[in-house]
Amino acid sequence: MAPLPDIGLEKALAFDFLERNATQIALLGDSIFYFGELGMQEFETAKLMTQLLEEGGFALERGIAGFPTGFCATFGSGSPIIAVHTEYDANPDNSQKSGVIRPEAIVEGAPGHCEGHNVNAAVMVAGALAAKEAMQKFGLKGTLKVFGAPAEEQLVSRPYFVRDGYFDDVDLALTPHVGAQFGVGYGLIQSALVSAYFTFHGETAHAGSAPWKGRDALDAVILMDVGMAEHREHMMPNTMCQRVITDGGEQPNVIPKRAQVWWYFRGSTADAVMALLERAKKVAEGAALMTNTTYEVEVQSAVWPVRGNQTLAELVQAEYQRVGAPEWTAEEDALARRLQQAAQAEPIGLSRAVSIMNGPATQKPASNDAGDVSWKAPMAKFYFPSNIPNISYHHWAAGVALATSIAHKGALAGSKVLAASLIEIFLNPEIVDKAKAVFAQETKGVSYFSMLPLGQKPPLDLNRATMQRFRDDMRAHYLTTRPRFVGLP
Ligand SMILES: [Zn+2]
Repeated sequence: MAPLPDIGLEKALAFDFLERNATQIALLGDSIFYFGELGMQEFETAKLMTQLLEEGGFALERGIAGFPTGFCATFGSGSPIIAVHTEYDANPDNSQKSGVIRPEAIVEGAPGHCEGHNVNAAVMVAGALAAKEAMQKFGLKGTLKVFGAPAEEQLVSRPYFVRDGYFDDVDLALTPHVGAQFGVGYGLIQSALVSAYFTFHGETAHAGSAPWKGRDALDAVILMDVGMAEHREHMMPNTMCQRVITDGGEQPNVIPKRAQVWWYFRGSTADAVMALLERAKKVAEGAALMTNTTYEVEVQSAVWPVRGNQTLAELVQAEYQRVGAPEWTAEEDALARRLQQAAQAEPIGLSRAVSIMNGPATQKPASNDAGDVSWKAPMAKFYFPSNIPNISYHHWAAGVALATSIAHKGALAGSKVLAASLIEIFLNPEIVDKAKAVFAQETKGVSYFSMLPLGQKPPLDLNRATMQRFRDDMRAHYLTTRPRFVGLP
């Protein structure tokens, strides 16, 4: 890494802690890679993360907001209260062997990490432990809260955490996320999303001998699909909708009495996705009318667009410059190029740059359940280089680097940026006032509301069956060495 100018004793101590624990950080990310757990099934992952935080002196609250795999770990007391949060879930059917440059599953059909949330978790735990070392050693005042947020891939947990008050007293928030280089932004960064199930109910009948007696729920799902396809022509720019059919009946000689379609509605604002949901209800109503069925809609989660606070983005950017991008070896660069070629992407190798902010970010169509937090408190979502440029996520190629030295180096650099940003805030609490003043300007005219339906409970069972089916086969690949962070002498 490039030399670190003027980092001060506090950050130097945190970096020393992280360098000494580089192997443990790598081991933590790799352990979670092999757990490969789906959203709300991250039991091994959360257990390991919470144990490490507890061993490091954090007080643990497990199972927050009704999520068995969610947690809040706290160190210190009083203000400011700074939160770090991130996700650690994998994706279905994304099992991929580490370092192998062709699609090859660890366990065929099993879930796996094909984005890098395993490294998010390592960066958050390591960065928080390092910041805590400095807080303790130098008597820095304030509270550090570390939130484990399940099921990002289903956009589920953080809107529930916010609704249940877990961010009410938080002054500032930071969330690390895997990327292909260091990068942070401000303004609207990602999109709002509503996740909703539409379930249609009809009546079974023998499809051969008395189909006229049936009321076909699958027909309603298909007609809703046709209606939404037509509606796409008239949707506002920057809105999108996609779906999967989660229930299409049992067998062709029984008219399906139940059928279900799961929709994601995306848009640049909370209001836009709520409007799209209302429009979809109309289409469902029409489909039900045409098929003489009934329907119900269940909003499972709904997230605000992720926004970045300018004060915090500038703070993180300054730490990027200090830490610098990792230095890659020729072998690491060659692996990246071969992978890019295999994935038909431009073979540019690994990134040696720190992206520079030139004004507000460009809002992306993807979403993240961290969005709600960013409307409650000034937040920075920042990226660290543990994956390979030009590779799109949720594809086998995006799983190749996540338990290699590329991910490890990116995680070390990312945890330094996280620790240094936290220390910077605890050393200069006036940053909180500045960030809040800017936040008030940034969010002017918009008042946050939870888009979750009243009394909505998290869909904890969503991935249970899939995880159970593969868990035993995956267990055979778990690492046998457990990471252990060593404190400073
Ligand atoms: Zn993610």
